[in-house]
Amino acid sequence: MADHTPPALDFDGLRPPSPFLTPEHDAWRAKLRGFIDGYVAPHLDDWDAASDFPDSLYKDAAREGISGMGFREDLGGTGENIDLWHRILFAEEFFRMGSGVVFADLATPWIALPPIINGGTPEMLESVAKPVLAGDKKIAFAVTEPGGGSDVSGFTTTAERKGDVFVVNGGKTLISGAMKADYLLTAVRTGGPGMGGLSMLLIETDRPGVTRGPLPGLQWYNKNNGWLKFENVEVPVTNLVGTENRGFAGLASQFNIERFSGIAATLAMTRTCVAEAIAFARERQTFGKRLIDHQVMRHKIVDMVQKLKVAYAMLDILVWRFSRGELPVADLALLKVQATTTLEHCARESLQVLGGRAYTGGNRVERIYREARIFVIGGGSEEILRDLAAKQMGF
Ligand SMILES: Cc1cc2nc3c(=O)[nH]c(=O)nc-3n(C[C@H](O)[C@H](O)[C@H](O)COP(=O)(O)OP(=O)(O)OC[C@H]3O[C@@H](n4cnc5c(N)ncnc54)[C@H](O)[C@@H]3O)c2cc1C
Repeated sequence: MADHTPPALDFDGLRPPSPFLTPEHDAWRAKLRGFIDGYVAPHLDDWDAASDFPDSLYKDAAREGISGMGFREDLGGTGENIDLWHRILFAEEFFRMGSGVVFADLATPWIALPPIINGGTPEMLESVAKPVLAGDKKIAFAVTEPGGGSDVSGFTTTAERKGDVFVVNGGKTLISGAMKADYLLTAVRTGGPGMGGLSMLLIETDRPGVTRGPLPGLQWYNKNNGWLKFENVEVPVTNLVGTENRGFAGLASQFNIERFSGIAATLAMTRTCVAEAIAFARERQTFGKRLIDHQVMRHKIVDMVQKLKVAYAMLDILVWRFSRGELPVADLALLKVQATTTLEHCARESLQVLGGRAYTGGNRVERIYREARIFVIGGGSEEILRDLAAKQMGF
């Protein structure tokens, strides 16, 4: 018999049912939610105000089997038997609250460690992978340069080989976790111009010649996001990760993971905004009736729900296609644009529904509104991804 119960329009109810999620995924989501509710949610407002979160969270996330997701058990991870959905649920649950840099910094090892585990030396497994997965050491993924982040082929940080060392000169900026990182997985130029001359190099931040500083003014709590400068930094050639001058392929393979995480994060934040807007519009009375009884407001909300459903339909299909070995890069690029612009629109509209109330604290829309823009820039900006899709489609 058909179920005529109206759908719950809360965070969970706003995610259309997916044919691909299993009870095992549900259990993983419940575990993540328990961690966020126990360790993160109670402190989020304080951390937001302080622009920082305590180091102990790294250890908590490691101990609870959260941050080691998908990594080899002998390195301290939870095992490699996971799929793309596990990563997506991770991002969704962390961003349910709008918890910006908590996620960015905790999840950086997903991007920075795989190239090291797959292309680094056995010594790196011991000295880098294990302590990072244990929450004892921190790693940052340092790619963007002051001269620009979109045009990877134009990077100018050089690593010149002199005997047994590379001598590194240049700088990076906007790097998540830079201020606390013990290690950097860095893109450096070891060869000629263009993509072909790039390599990945592990740089310890305590090497002479490495300096760093914070970047004030970014609108999420990220005292730890910063710039790095390299002045004649001597790095052993054994710190090379992967093949010399073939670094771009390694970087690009990490971009897909970053994009799926960004998409999942933005759609989760969108659900939170829309859920709060709906709850408020059902309560708030203006001109003698509830906000949601005004057609303009009702349409605003329906329009947001519609955009969410479209993005989730696209996400479900794309995860399925990637999981069966396809590489629809153009569609992934377009979905990231779809998801991030959906978040921007819905954060704006939800804040509009809340009116001045949004500025008085006690709601997540305000925080998400502040955090929304970065997703349209980081992990492949809107313009760059549209162009990537156009090229892939042969335009
Ligand atoms: C909070 C935060 C955290 C970050 N964390 C990291 C990190 O951990 N590691 C890291 O390496 N980087 C990080 N970044 C940097 C991020 O990856 C870059 O900001 C991004 O790649 C864009 O580079 P850019 O800011 O230098 O912009 P630019 O490349 O200078 O571009 C400026 C603008 O022009 C547009 N544009 C550029 N080229 C074209 C073109 N050909 N056609 C049309 N439009 C174009 C871009 O889309 C962008 O809107 C972070 C950024 C922020 C804000």
